[in-house]
Amino acid sequence: MFDDLHLDHILLTPGPTPIHPRAQQAMMRGMLGHMDPEVFKLNREIQDDLRVMYGTEPEAFTALLAGTGSLGMESGFANLVEQGDEVLVCANGSFGRRMAEMAARYGARVRLVTAHLGEAIRPEDVAAHLDGVQMVAVVHGETSTGVLNPVPEIAELVRSSGALLTVDAVTTAGMEPFHMERWGVDYAYTGAQKCLSAPPGLAPVAISERAFARYSARRTPTPLWYCDFEGLRDYWVEHTYHHTVPVNLHYAFHAALRAALEEGMEARQQRVGEVGSAILTALTPLGFSHYVKRPQDRLPTVLALRLPEGLDDAAVRRALRQREISVTGGLGPTAGVIWRLGLMGEAARPAPYRALMRALEDILG
Ligand code: PLP
Repeated sequence: MFDDLHLDHILLTPGPTPIHPRAQQAMMRGMLGHMDPEVFKLNREIQDDLRVMYGTEPEAFTALLAGTGSLGMESGFANLVEQGDEVLVCANGSFGRRMAEMAARYGARVRLVTAHLGEAIRPEDVAAHLDGVQMVAVVHGETSTGVLNPVPEIAELVRSSGALLTVDAVTTAGMEPFHMERWGVDYAYTGAQKCLSAPPGLAPVAISERAFARYSARRTPTPLWYCDFEGLRDYWVEHTYHHTVPVNLHYAFHAALRAALEEGMEARQQRVGEVGSAILTALTPLGFSHYVKRPQDRLPTVLALRLPEGLDDAAVRRALRQREISVTGGLGPTAGVIWRLGLMGEAARPAPYRALMRALEDILG
């Protein structure tokens, strides 16, 4: 079992983030059945709040999938792609590549638009490959490199081409501006454990009318039964049984999302910006520098920092962990080169980063 309860653990990873106290408390509620009228009322409130978070049209369909962010990703391809469809995937990091792999598994002919590591996708590269494409997929905030892709510009191009647009909003929705309707996004998803500081295990999704129309025109049934859009609608709108949703996670998610909306998206965005620039100012004298060169390409919610020359990545992170502080290193090609500090949800507070600074000064002497 655990050495202790880790109640004071300082979690500065790019997900999961520290659980919001109101979500933690909501987890204590007694269990109700997934068909209970009170749960349906709670679900309706979650759906309404998600429409606000995603900036959808008032009638757009929102729901929680019982799985992590990857299930949100997979459900989009499973429902909206059929054998032989041309899908253009923007892949400038690990999560863009995950999208490409999933699209291929659901029968898509995948075209890739790439960029160098640490650089954003260029809209003109998307424009050059749009001909004959049924869907474009892009990660808004590429967690593996700390890059923000220009979704509004890409969306404008996609909309005029007639293709559907799927956006991975895992590190952005709930913390950074996200305007599904205004931008023209057809399918968006995130993970509960990221910007909302709810426990992992739920993927909030938003599906446009256009996406539903594409789904309805499928020649073959959705191969992933668990997340079939019609099955979701049966439970979330018609209130008929589809599968047993994790009610206790819904309680916590509801509380965390309410807390986020009460704080307001602009206030949250400002909080991320302030904590991010304070930590960068504090770490620069220790030799850390921004990994993403162009300021407009920087994802505010995941600070990707190049490590100082000679810093022993694994040893320093081990020493931090002994002091109950978790930070994350690079992924794949950036392992040993960068750290990725999470500034999502409850992680974007000055106190945990002050604790990190004190610990680093102690460890690095
Ligand atoms: N997309 C992005 C951008 C992510 O950062 C992550 C996880 O870090 C995922 C998808 C996958 O989410 P999960 O690990 O919750 O399945």
